[in-house]
Amino acid sequence: MPPITRIACIGEVMIELIAGHGNAAELNVAGDTYNTAVYLKRHARGLDVDYVTALGRDTFSDRILAHMTAHDVGTKAVARHPTRMPGLYAIETDALGERSFSYWRETSAARTLFDSDGAEGVPRNAAEVLAHYDLVLLTGITLAILSCNARNRLMTAIDAYRAGGGQIAFDSNYRPHLWNDPALARRETEAMWQRTDIALPSVDDEIALFGDADEAAVLARLADCGIKAGALKCAEAGPVNLGSDSTRAKVSPATQVVDTTAAGDSFNAGYIAALALGATPTDAMIAGHTLALQVIAKRGGIVDTD
Ligand code: ADP
Repeated sequence: MPPITRIACIGEVMIELIAGHGNAAELNVAGDTYNTAVYLKRHARGLDVDYVTALGRDTFSDRILAHMTAHDVGTKAVARHPTRMPGLYAIETDALGERSFSYWRETSAARTLFDSDGAEGVPRNAAEVLAHYDLVLLTGITLAILSCNARNRLMTAIDAYRAGGGQIAFDSNYRPHLWNDPALARRETEAMWQRTDIALPSVDDEIALFGDADEAAVLARLADCGIKAGALKCAEAGPVNLGSDSTRAKVSPATQVVDTTAAGDSFNAGYIAALALGATPTDAMIAGHTLALQVIAKRGGIVDTD
């Protein structure tokens, strides 16, 4: 595997509101690829990790940038849209402990990323952005928030990037409400699997999106797409290698599950950090799982870890 020192995570980072009792709320910064960027940098200090997105020029965007800086995530690929603002989501917990999510993200600045009609300062040329990195991580959420044109430009840029030796890591992270049409989500996700060097799907997302009968069917379909490396995340059953053999990592069970937010995101970070530092795929799966266990033992997406 070619050396990995410069990594970009592409997507949308949002303001997160956790509704408390009465009128109180806690305010955080989160988003799937962003969570991964923070954990990646934390667990492989020597890597350069940039986040690629568009924010606004408002004070909440300032707050997000300050969060990136505090976590040593590079901001040079963050554009600032003149009128749009970041997306927002709220988490509420009912009396039985069941969480529900509400989103305000349809008109966020990140939606203009790689857009031909995007405002000045918002990256339009995906190829120019990708060229700076050894590895680029994106997810099905990244694809879902882009315009159709922007997605096509990104796919074309990915082909050129990979032809020049760049590597793509992808997690399908299927969120039905972000896609108008499940058939479109399937087409775009499959197109990405055909362009992926390190695949990091979770079995539940793949089954929900493609209707596979079981884990074996997921593995067979991903192999047909040409996937040769990565891990299939299977919650407590432990991840399965997506390389030449489909062995399941022998992992320890969770001692405490408080909140599974960012389980997959942190797994991706632990896995990629370990690979970049020279670990075998099996050790990378164990590193991903070990980090995910720490994350699910605490409330919130970005939590303190060892
Ligand atoms: P996602 O969060 O993307 O849906 P998973 O639920 O498979 O993905 O979780 C990602 C990783 O987090 C798993 O591969 C596993 O390492 C760990 N994990 C999640 N839930 C549990 C659990 N209940 N017990 C042990 N590990 C878990």
